[in-house]
Amino acid sequence: MPGPDGGQWNASTIRGAPTKLVGILNNPLYAGRLVWGRRQWRKNPDSEKRERRYRLRDRTEWVEVAVPELRVVDDALFDAAHAEIERRKRAPQAASPAGQTRARHLLSGLIRCSCCGANYTISGKDYYRCAGQKERGTCGNRVSVRKGPLETATLAVLQEHILADEHVRVFIEEFERELQQLTRQDTGQHDAAQKRLKQVTTEIENLYQNLLAGLASPALRAMIAEREAEKVRLKARGGAVHDRKPTAILLPHPVLVEQFRSKVASLRQSLDDALIRTEAAAVLSA
Ligand SMILES: [Zn+2]
Repeated sequence: MPGPDGGQWNASTIRGAPTKLVGILNNPLYAGRLVWGRRQWRKNPDSEKRERRYRLRDRTEWVEVAVPELRVVDDALFDAAHAEIERRKRAPQAASPAGQTRARHLLSGLIRCSCCGANYTISGKDYYRCAGQKERGTCGNRVSVRKGPLETATLAVLQEHILADEHVRVFIEEFERELQQLTRQDTGQHDAAQKRLKQVTTEIENLYQNLLAGLASPALRAMIAEREAEKVRLKARGGAVHDRKPTAILLPHPVLVEQFRSKVASLRQSLDDALIRTEAAAVLSA
C-alpha cells in the first residue's frame, strides 16, 4: 500500500517508538484514545517560542481522553498488534541473519577455494566447502574441511605469532599507558572533590554566620543540612580514592607477561563463547 504522497512507508513511521507512543502501531489515537502531555517542550526564554527540544514526562503525568470518533481500528486488533510486538521483542536472536552466520563460523569468508577462488563456507554442521561447488555447481573441487581442527590450527599459528616478544612489549606498554590514564582520572576526580569540599566548608561557615546574626529561617537550616551531608559524602569519597590508588601501579613486568601469555593461551576457549566469537569474526574479516 503506497503512503499518502504515493511513496514508500518508512519503518519509523509504522513502528515509531513505544516509549513516546509514536508510530502507527504505538499511537493509541488509532484506537480512539488521545494522550496529552507526553512531552514537555522547552521554551526559549527570550522569545517565548517553543524550541524543537523536549523531555518525556513521566507516564503518571499523561492525560488520556477518549475520542471514539477518531478511532480507526478496534481494541482487539490494536491489542493483538501490541501482543505481537511484545512477542517479537522477546524472541531471541532478533539480529540480522548475517550477524548470526558470522557469530557461528569464525573463518567464514576467509578461506578461498584454490580451484575457482570462491569462498569456502560452512556446509552442514561443521564442514567448510567450496561455495562454487556446493551452491552454484560451477566448480569441481569437492574437498571439504572439518571446522574444529581447521580453527584450532589457525588459532595455534595466530597464538604463536601474537606471543612474539614484540607483541608482549606492546601489550605491556599499552597496559601501563591505560593504567596511567586511569590514575590521572582518579587524581582529577580526587582534586575536584577536594576543591568542592573546601567550597562547601566555606559555604557552611558563611551560613552559620548568618544563623548567628539572627537570620534563623527554615530555609537557612535546610541549606546548612544539605551542605553538611554533602561534606560527609565528599570526605568519604576522598578516603576511598586514597585507599585504592597505590595498588594498581605495582604490577611487575613478569606478572604482566604471564597474564598476557595465559590470555593468549585461553583464546581457543574464549572463542567458544558466542559473544566473543562474533567480535573475533568481525575483527578477522575486517
Ligand atoms: Zn571452488
